[in-house]
Parts: sequence; C-alpha cells; structure tokens
Amino acid sequence: MGKTRLIDENGLRSDGRRADELRPIKIEVGTLENANGSAYIEQGKCKILAAVYGPHEAHPRHLTQPDRAILRCRYHMAPFSVPERKSPAPSRREIELSKVIRESLEPVVMTELFPRTMIDIFIEVLQADGGTRCVGLTAASLALADAGIPLRGLVCACAAGKVDGQIVLDLNDLEDKEGEADCPIAFIPQLNVFSLLQMDGLMLAEEYEKAVNLALEGCRRIYEMQIEAIKKKYREAKAEDNNQ
Ligand code: UDP
Repeated sequence: MGKTRLIDENGLRSDGRRADELRPIKIEVGTLENANGSAYIEQGKCKILAAVYGPHEAHPRHLTQPDRAILRCRYHMAPFSVPERKSPAPSRREIELSKVIRESLEPVVMTELFPRTMIDIFIEVLQADGGTRCVGLTAASLALADAGIPLRGLVCACAAGKVDGQIVLDLNDLEDKEGEADCPIAFIPQLNVFSLLQMDGLMLAEEYEKAVNLALEGCRRIYEMQIEAIKKKYREAKAEDNNQ
C-alpha cells in the first residue's frame, strides 16, 4: 500500500483496538444547568457537548409553522478542537453537518405536539478526533430526551469503514484521513429505521454491506449506553430529592 500501516500484524489498530471495537465511551446526561436539556459524550479523544433550548416562540416569526414545531440545529467546532486553529465562523462543512444532523433527528421528535414553536439544538465539538457527526448526533438525541421533549425513539450513531483493507468500527481521525473509506450511520431502534447513511471513499458492495452491519452493531451498543446514561441521571435526581 506504501502508506502508514494502520493495522499491525496482531490485528491491532493505531489506538490498540480490534476491528470491531468501539472507542471507550463516557456519557453524561443533564450536564448543563441553564439549557433545557443537555448531554456530554467522550468517545476516545472526541469531547462533545449538546444542548437543547425549547420549544420556544419561533424567531424569525415568518419561520413559524401552524401545525408543528420547527427544529434548528447548529453543529460547531470550537477553534481549539482541532490541531490547526479553526475559524470560529461556520464553515461549509459545519453548515452541511448541521443540516444532516437535523434531518437525522427529525423522525423522532414529535413536533406536532408543539405547533408555532421552535426547538434549538446546539452541538459544540470541544475536541475532535474523527466521527464527530456521529458522537454529536448521539449526544443531541440525549439532550432532546433530557429536555423532556416527547420522542418516538432515540437516535444512536456510529461509523464503520475500511482501513488497510479491513472493515473496522468507529474510525478515529487518523483512520478517517488515511483509511480507504468511512461510512457513518444513524439508527433509531424503536422505529427500526436508519436516519443517516453516508459514505466517504471507496468500498466494494460486499464491503459496504459488512461496514453498514458493523456500524449498526456499534449503534446498538451505543444505544444501551444512552439508556443507561438517562437512567443514571434520573437515579441521581431521585437520590437528591430524597436527601432534601
Ligand atoms: N477535522 C479537522 N479540522 C476540520 C474539520 C475536521 O481536523 O476543520 C478532523 C476532525 O478530527 C474530524 C475529522 O477531521 O473529526 C473527520 O472529519 P469529517 O468531516 O469526516 O467528519 P466527522 O468524521 O468528524 O463526522
């Protein structure tokens, strides 16, 4: 291949993982006091915060929909989140990712319950190391749940891809940049639907199928962690109430 080897002779990746392993994940729900809902996720070296405001009166007013709430999403990378300082102004990539993430969340939000209002979702990437759209989506879905907004399900997201000719789960930045392909997906277990399916790079049809199935398996594992993180928040809130 003539490039840096990303998988060694023992089958271990640059960060010591096996092909089907997720990065270590830490999820916290209700991190922020002032937002209506929030969640913070560390996945490997990625550190991402999501916050939700709303439903609130729609601004500008002309965006108001008489029969539903409208969803707005801003995915933003902090200037210090990447090795080379990023301009704080929204880039083309951030505008595209904001749209893609909003569209991936739309199927679960019961917007019809809140006509003439707006729900704002903010995703702040504090530290990036590949896969930020997926981690951001997983966090945003939890922030919506934490805001008490009725949902049809949770959205869980994870990527799989091709690195050194092998199909691997949850690519880090090096694998994303030096690997052959990256395929981020989002899945809604309660509805049994995919709400995001993207691909960057090249794979054979059978590799693509294998990658999507592996990413789906990653989503299912992340979903279990999302549920556990929500339960933990409510257990802690209850314990606090009991102590008062
Ligand atoms: N990245 C960067 N500078 C940028 C944008 C991205 O260093 O301005 C890095 C960052 O680690 C990010 C990775 O490139 O996670 C992959 O970016 P991509 O556009 O594939 O989106 P992601 O995989 O984060 O969803």
